Amino acid sequence: MIRINTNTRIAIIGGGISGLVIAHRLQKKGYKNVTVFEKSNILGGKLHTIFYRNKSYEMGALFGMPCQKHLKTLMKEFNIKADGPKLSRVNYDIKGNEIMRIPKELLGDFVRELNRLPDVLVKYKSLEKINIHNIEEELMLPFSRWCEINKFNVLKTVYAHYITSYGLGHIEIIPAVYVLRILNYDNLMSFMELPDFCTWKDGVFTLIECLSNKIDDVRLTQNVNSIHITENKTILVQTDFGLDEFDKVIITSSYNHFKGLFNDKKMLFFMDNIKYQNYTVYAFITEKVPNKCGFVLENIPMIRKGHILIWNSRWGVSSDKELVMVYAYNNPKNSMETALNIIKDDLTELGFHNSILYQYRNWHQCPYVDSSILREGFYDKMETIQGKNNVYIAGEIMSTITMDNCIRYSNYLVDSYF
Ligand SMILES: Cc1cc2nc3c(=O)[nH]c(=O)nc-3n(C[C@H](O)[C@H](O)[C@H](O)COP(=O)(O)OP(=O)(O)OC[C@H]3O[C@@H](n4cnc5c(N)ncnc54)[C@H](O)[C@@H]3O)c2cc1C
Repeated sequence: MIRINTNTRIAIIGGGISGLVIAHRLQKKGYKNVTVFEKSNILGGKLHTIFYRNKSYEMGALFGMPCQKHLKTLMKEFNIKADGPKLSRVNYDIKGNEIMRIPKELLGDFVRELNRLPDVLVKYKSLEKINIHNIEEELMLPFSRWCEINKFNVLKTVYAHYITSYGLGHIEIIPAVYVLRILNYDNLMSFMELPDFCTWKDGVFTLIECLSNKIDDVRLTQNVNSIHITENKTILVQTDFGLDEFDKVIITSSYNHFKGLFNDKKMLFFMDNIKYQNYTVYAFITEKVPNKCGFVLENIPMIRKGHILIWNSRWGVSSDKELVMVYAYNNPKNSMETALNIIKDDLTELGFHNSILYQYRNWHQCPYVDSSILREGFYDKMETIQGKNNVYIAGEIMSTITMDNCIRYSNYLVDSYF
C-alpha cells in the first residue's frame, strides 16, 4: 500500500467537474492542503445552469444517462435525485416538419447493424481502459471511415445525429476512438430511451454545489497565468494576485498557458495540435414553446455549419414566456451579428416568432487530436508525462467528454497517482 503524505500541498487548475471531483477525492483520501483555482466567478465550467423566471435552464451539460455508473455513484453519495423535466426528441426538417430519423426502408438494416455492433466493439481492448492507451489502428481513423470498413452504413447516420448535434464534431474528422468512448454501446442504447435520462430540477449545477460544499480551499476569479518548477522541485502557481507554492499540481483546464512546463519538443508539438469544437448555445426568450426538443437533421452536414442543430424547450408547453435553448456550431468566418441572424431566420422557419436573445455562450469543447497525431503516439506520450516534475493532467482531453467520463478519469487519476 502506498503511504501518503497528507500534508502534500496540491493545486488543481480548473473548477469544473473534473477539478472538483479530484479535489473531493483527494480530501477523502486524507490530503489536507488541496486548493482549487478557478478563473471564473463561479464553479462548474461546462456545467452551467442559468435561471429565468425561477426556472432552471442549461447553458452547458444537460443530462446524464441511466447507464453512467460514475455519475450515478456521485449522485448517490450526495443524495441527489434526478428530479428534473423529462427529455423528448422529435426530428425536423429545416421548415419545421416532423421527419423520421431513418427512412422506413432502412429500419431492418439498422436493427441488423445494431445487433452486430457489440461483437465488433469487443475486439478493441483499448476501449475498455479508463486511460486512453494502445489505441488500435482502426480506431484512429475518422469515425465515418471506421463505419465504412465495418459496414455500418445506417449506424453511421444515427451516430452522426448524436455526435454532431451534441457538439462533438463531424464524423468525417473525429477519430473513431473518441466517438466510441463517448457513445459506447450502452450509451447509444440509452439514447434510444430518452425518457430515462437524468436531469435536475435546479439544474446540473446541483452536482457542483454539493461537491463544492465539501472542498475547503476554492479560489474563484483566480486565473492561473503560469506554473513554474523551482530548483527544489516545488511548484509555483502564478495568478494576477501573486505566487503560491505547492508540491504537486493537477491541470484540468486547457494547457495553453502551461506549455512552458513541458520542456520537450514532441510534447509542445502535440499540445499545439489539440483542437476544440466551437459550439454555441443561445438562450432565447420566446412565447408558446412546444413541448419538445427538436433535432434539425438537415443541418448536420458540415456545409450547414452555423445553422440550428437542436432546440430544447426544457419545461414544455406554457402560456408564459419561456427560454428556448438553441445549439449550433460557430462558423468562425461570421461576425456574432451574422451568426445570430442565421439562427433567428432558422427559428422563424421552424415556427418560433419574436425570439429575443437572452444569453449566449460559446464553448471550446470536446478537445481532440486528429488521426495523424494519434498515430504519432499522442496518448502514450501524455501517459508518460503524468507525474513528471509532480505535474499531472486531467480534464476532457484525457477523459473524453461527458460528465461520467470526467468523473471516471478524475477518480482514476487520484487512485493511480496519489
Ligand atoms: C453545450 C454543452 C452541452 C453538454 N452536454 C452534456 C450532457 O448533456 N451530458 C454530459 O455528460 N456532458 C455534456 N457536456 C460535456 C461536459 O459538460 C464536459 O465534458 C464536462 O463538464 C467537462 O468538465 P471539465 O471539468 O473537464 O472541464 P470544464 O468544465 O471545461 O472545466 C474547466 C475549468 O477550468 C477553468 N479554467 C480554465 N483555464 C483556467 C486557468 N488558467 N486558471 C484557472 N481556471 C481555469 C474554466 O473556467 C473551467 O471552469 C456538454 C458540454 C457542453 C459545452
